Amino acid sequence: MQMAIDLHVHSNASSDGEFSARELVEMALVAGLETISITDHDSVENVEAGMMWGQRYKLEVIPGCELFSQYKGKFLHILGYYIDPLHPGIQGLCAKAAEDSLSRIDRQIAVLREGGFYLEKEKVLAQCSHNAPLYSNYAEAIFEDERNKDNPIIKKYRQMEMGLIEFCRDYMCMGKKYYIPQYIPSSEQVLSVIQESGGVAVLAHPAVNLKKGDTAILGELVEMGLVGLEVFTSHHTEEDENFYLDYCQKQGLIYTCGSDYHGFFKPNVSLGDVKNNTYEVVEALKAAWKAQTAEKEKAAPGAVPGSVPAAASDAASTPGSDTRPEE
Ligand SMILES: [Zn+2]
Ligand SMILES: [Zn+2]
Repeated sequence: MQMAIDLHVHSNASSDGEFSARELVEMALVAGLETISITDHDSVENVEAGMMWGQRYKLEVIPGCELFSQYKGKFLHILGYYIDPLHPGIQGLCAKAAEDSLSRIDRQIAVLREGGFYLEKEKVLAQCSHNAPLYSNYAEAIFEDERNKDNPIIKKYRQMEMGLIEFCRDYMCMGKKYYIPQYIPSSEQVLSVIQESGGVAVLAHPAVNLKKGDTAILGELVEMGLVGLEVFTSHHTEEDENFYLDYCQKQGLIYTCGSDYHGFFKPNVSLGDVKNNTYEVVEALKAAWKAQTAEKEKAAPGAVPGSVPAAASDAASTPGSDTRPEE
């Protein structure tokens, strides 16, 4: 039997994820998966736990993350695979995003209240288990507040299958009515942090944030080090999949598959439920990572986290050691 994979899974280190790393590994086994990657929003907190449980249960868990970024006015989600979760570059970026999110809570609540919605700070914090809140945590606090039950906007979104997400997209995301300016690093910065941390970068669900005519942007991201696109995802239509698969084939990029599983937050998405999720996708991803690592090693021996320089195989090369250049 062909084993399946899922390279885009959120744990409870994402403020909108439901399950722990251990639960996800157990669920992946039950679902008959061979490989997963836990790719949390601006967090690498559960990466090591995921790998540890993967080892125990004999499931391949690729270290990963999903980092928010912006480029030319577009909000882009960039997946990093094979990153060293202890690298100061990635740790610093995640810490800064969390700090910024926590500092915006009062302002975000005030703006939503001015918009006529009832919500309580305690509920927002409870929704994200006291992690840094995401838009969806505010939306959930609003949706669950009885006082909003007759609000026609909430009524409308409550009827939708993915109402919470649709509400966030229409009212809270960058450029929308209740958006509070926030720290979103540039895609250049995120791509370079992923590479410095020893990983390869793949653009998550391109059709969500880009129009099909935005291929110039894709080309620029590739110039900056992007190695592939997440073509098969619960967010894409068949037309999107065909378009981006064709783009990858023409440009020599790899494609990946991920469900973007979150648990209750995306009730219609289940673990491993994504098309073309065969192990060949992992092999191609691994090959791209190895090729990039070899290139970097050639350019600056010893600079890649986790790799051992050929000329100094006895030297310490502990992940997270700060013997490598920062930039
Ligand atoms: Zn995403
Ligand atoms: Zn995601």
